[in-house]
Amino acid sequence: MRRAEDHTNSYYAATRKHVADYPTLRGEHRCDVVVVGAGFTGISAALHLAERGYDVVIVEANRVGWGASGRNGGQLIDGFVEIDKIEKRFGAEAGALARQMGTECRDIVVQRVDQYEIDCDLKFGYLDLAIKPSEMQDLEEHVEDCERHNYPHALEVIPADRIKEVIGSDRYVGGVMNPGNGHLHPLNLCIGEARAAEMLGARIFERSPVVRLRHGSAPSVEAETGVVHAHKIVLAGNAYLGNTEPRLAGAVIPAGSYVIATEPLSSELARELLPRDSACCDQRVALDYYRLSADRRLLFGGMCNYSGREPKDIAAALRPKMLRVFPQLADARIEYQWGGNIGISINRIPQLGRIQGNTYYAQGYSGHGVAPTHLAGKMIADIVGGDSEQFDLLSRVRHMRLPGGKWFANPALALGMLYYRLKELL
Ligand SMILES: Cc1cc2nc3c(=O)[nH]c(=O)nc-3n(C[C@H](O)[C@H](O)[C@H](O)COP(=O)(O)OP(=O)(O)OC[C@H]3O[C@@H](n4cnc5c(N)ncnc54)[C@H](O)[C@@H]3O)c2cc1C
Repeated sequence: MRRAEDHTNSYYAATRKHVADYPTLRGEHRCDVVVVGAGFTGISAALHLAERGYDVVIVEANRVGWGASGRNGGQLIDGFVEIDKIEKRFGAEAGALARQMGTECRDIVVQRVDQYEIDCDLKFGYLDLAIKPSEMQDLEEHVEDCERHNYPHALEVIPADRIKEVIGSDRYVGGVMNPGNGHLHPLNLCIGEARAAEMLGARIFERSPVVRLRHGSAPSVEAETGVVHAHKIVLAGNAYLGNTEPRLAGAVIPAGSYVIATEPLSSELARELLPRDSACCDQRVALDYYRLSADRRLLFGGMCNYSGREPKDIAAALRPKMLRVFPQLADARIEYQWGGNIGISINRIPQLGRIQGNTYYAQGYSGHGVAPTHLAGKMIADIVGGDSEQFDLLSRVRHMRLPGGKWFANPALALGMLYYRLKELL
């Protein structure tokens, strides 16, 4: 039997606002839609469905927000899919739809926080940083492209001679500030949204790994101690779904990403590091991402690991990277360290689709899922209700699989990523 786990030992778990404790699934239940997995994808789908009057049950193997949703960098970034990939494959109209989806996914999060008064430290201001002049050129081209397409937020190009206005680091040659994106406490957001869904009638079960799915005319999901019969199933296990649905195994590759949190910094030092309290990332494939928490810790993430093996000492591996950006933190104690699995799709396009008529899934946001999961949940609610425009766009994209299936996936991915990393270094 698969053992349920409590939250990982993260800064987020230590500072969660509600220690919600939902029951284990026992006995037989019936509903319109059963959702497997209570991360952002599952909770967003459940909340959208509950808002539209569906009777929803959520079955979570561990705890609400236990997976990537409760462990991530907390960076709220718009964009659902790389527009040029969609434009090239399906034309300008599909590109325009993808662009609109990119802003919509971020707006859903902001609207949820506002509507349900979710206390999750949401702050605006996002800084894309360039280490090399060529990256700065790409960023400037991106700004021009946004301006051509009436992007709704006023992007601010920060040249090298003004960089200290936004970051106390010598590592960068420039950046772009986006006032529409920002950062938040992801576990508190996920738990807050689960509470909203519950308020609207959704039933949530934790510590109930689903071990069997039945499709066909009478679908059901089974845990060891209970079963849920529904008209439709939503699979939202992403990088943690494992072999629950063999048709999805190997479609996304679980890659580890890691975060450290310093002790709380003095307000002077925090202001010196990030004068505008923005979230930051650089432009590399294996990127650094960081921000301040509400209690002024630096949360610094990075170091993607495609081997599936968690490093023995996350802090020892990440701290030198943090000090390369901010040598001022040489004496700061690291108080938390943790990691989680990102669901990577090979073409980096989120995977949405349908299995056997009445089972839907969404996964593979490839390291950029806080906002996109929220739109994926809405798209699932739309398709359940019969409206399929956005869902159809994504389900037309063929899911690339690595040859050899899931057992060979990680080494092959590691090679692929090494190739991109080499290209970057060159
Ligand atoms: C360290 C890290 C940093 C990241 N940083 C960022 C960031 O700053 N910004 C950003 O946009 N994205 C970031 N991401 C990615 C983002 O967190 C994910 O894309 C997003 O949270 C995925 O949400 P999800 O609900 O699809 O999956 P998850 O949150 O992983 O949820 C899946 C859930 O399904 C459950 N489950 C699986 N199988 C079963 C089963 N058989 N029965 C019942 N339940 C099951 C799991 O227990 C889990 O709770 C990061 C990810 C990681 C790991």
